[in-house]
Amino acid sequence: MQTPLYSWQITQWQQFLQRMQSDTLAHAILLTGVSGIGKLHFAQALVAANFCLQLDSAGFACKQCKNCHLLAADTYPDFISIKPSEENNKTTVDEIRGLISKLALTRHFDRKKIALIQHADRMNTNAANALLKTLEEPPPETILILLTDKPQALPATIRSRCQQTSLNLPDEAEALSWLQIQNPTTRWESLLKLAQGAPLAALDLLQSDLVEQRHLVVSSSLKLFEGQASVALLSAELESIPVPQIMAWLQSVIADLMRIKAMDNPPSLENPDFYRHLLAIAPRMTVASLQQLWEFLLQRSRIFDASLNRRLFVEDVLIQCRNGHKLA
Ligand SMILES: [Zn+2]
Repeated sequence: MQTPLYSWQITQWQQFLQRMQSDTLAHAILLTGVSGIGKLHFAQALVAANFCLQLDSAGFACKQCKNCHLLAADTYPDFISIKPSEENNKTTVDEIRGLISKLALTRHFDRKKIALIQHADRMNTNAANALLKTLEEPPPETILILLTDKPQALPATIRSRCQQTSLNLPDEAEALSWLQIQNPTTRWESLLKLAQGAPLAALDLLQSDLVEQRHLVVSSSLKLFEGQASVALLSAELESIPVPQIMAWLQSVIADLMRIKAMDNPPSLENPDFYRHLLAIAPRMTVASLQQLWEFLLQRSRIFDASLNRRLFVEDVLIQCRNGHKLA
């Protein structure tokens, strides 16, 4: 069955659901756990289930009733969510006061009001003090949900007034199988370790890795076209990047150069962040040489397999790219 939660969250979800249905949820809940396991996701499912008018058989919000629609449109009047400002990464006392005064209002619907505080550890001291009073004397029919991956950074007085639940980390096999579905061609073991076992954090790491790797391959190839780089050095720099990925990015550079050759201001490029550099290089290459390079890369991509000597393969490709402008 499709659920709005990650597989490793289901057991704890059922416990919360039971408490919700027997009306024994604490008025203040502190959800903790390492970054990248889906705490916000879990809290959002809880919020949605509290408001939904027709939960499905597993206790998840239906996403179809009036309340679900209001929540999805961010217009449900009895729900407040705050997170630290993007400027200084802090939650201020004014925001907490605003949240408290909204919680004090009479509720609009026959459901508990909920306030969700993301990254609760980033409240400054005044904000935490202001919240403390509300935790001591909560308005009727309200639930406060605090999220943090650093519970020890919260004042003990806040922690002691919340019912604390540490959300589960999946075991390694479960995390790896989930990651494998997200991206089957990646070897996830080391990334998962780097992410302390948190699958969503591992996924983020891969994405940030990809960004850096693409930058390296594209800038390296442009240096090669300018004749400014040593093939052996570049090949060593690219050593941690999978060969099919290198080939795809090299092809994207050739494609961009062909687009620039075809018109001065192409409407879209695969590497728009390198536009100026590409523009400077394009006059050094002929259309025929670009086409030859394109064919060459395509043919090499087809024949590459893991049994080939990686270094020789990459160096051969880089040499062809360096000589590319001489091909015509
Ligand atoms: Zn609903």
